[in-house]
Amino acid sequence: MRLYFLIKLFAEFNVIIYSVKQLNLRNMICTILGCGGSSGVPEIGCGCFTCSSPNPKNKRLRSSIYIQSKTTSILVDTSPDLRQQALTHGIKYLDAILYTHDHGDHICGIDDTKSFARSGCIIPTFLNQSTYDTLTQRFPYIFKQASLLYPVRLQTNILKYNHAFQVGDIDIISFPQIHGKIISTGFRFGELAYSTDLNELTNQAIEVLAGVQIWIVDCLRYAWAPTHSYLERTISWSDKIKPELTILTHMAHDIEYAEIKKILPQNIIPAFDGLKINFNQ
Ligand SMILES: [Zn+2]
Ligand SMILES: [Zn+2]
Ligand SMILES: [Zn+2]
Repeated sequence: MRLYFLIKLFAEFNVIIYSVKQLNLRNMICTILGCGGSSGVPEIGCGCFTCSSPNPKNKRLRSSIYIQSKTTSILVDTSPDLRQQALTHGIKYLDAILYTHDHGDHICGIDDTKSFARSGCIIPTFLNQSTYDTLTQRFPYIFKQASLLYPVRLQTNILKYNHAFQVGDIDIISFPQIHGKIISTGFRFGELAYSTDLNELTNQAIEVLAGVQIWIVDCLRYAWAPTHSYLERTISWSDKIKPELTILTHMAHDIEYAEIKKILPQNIIPAFDGLKINFNQ
């Protein structure tokens, strides 16, 4: 009870220190760069209660997170808002980019990776086969040298699900998720896991998520959605996976921050852009 109270209190100050015990051992930070649906919030041309709200926690860029250890920085997805997200959070350097899937709201900022590859370094990416096919077809100049003026910026590694890999000093396990007709990828980094854009949990996902303590998970809206999770389903997954803290992301304008916060169980909170979570590997 006390831990949940402290989590909610810290969340108001834009940071969650996951455990108040052993504070100085929390060696990783996850920053929510964006927690909006594919249109972001506010949506263009919409005057609904959430879209016209002055509360900054109702301003949501497209979904993406940034994971940092003392020596390593990883971006998950290159959202169409990547430029703004990098400027806001002072992100200047990336050791790797992980892709969840190839939908526009998760890839369309890919051209801005040129700012991170300025010194001629090639950034490794980790992605599944279908995301690889889409990205290399749509943005071939980023992966293959077209001319001396356009050097290669990104290198690709195809993910092998449910196998651990490392970027710098960060251990990662990827797992498959059902997202309508496609497979999206979830990622676990020690105590924390990220599951955006899914409507069904696979057995492989359940296996990797066992024992996770902080789970950032898709919750598009209150009503049923064909390719995403929605409130009732996300709560039932949280009850099944049993993380200490579940954080809702990829929220459309149907979800108003203060309103949903009042009705959520104690161990579930809505994300907001700029929220930082301290955790351990
Ligand atoms: Zn999405
Ligand atoms: Zn709206
Ligand atoms: Zn998607």
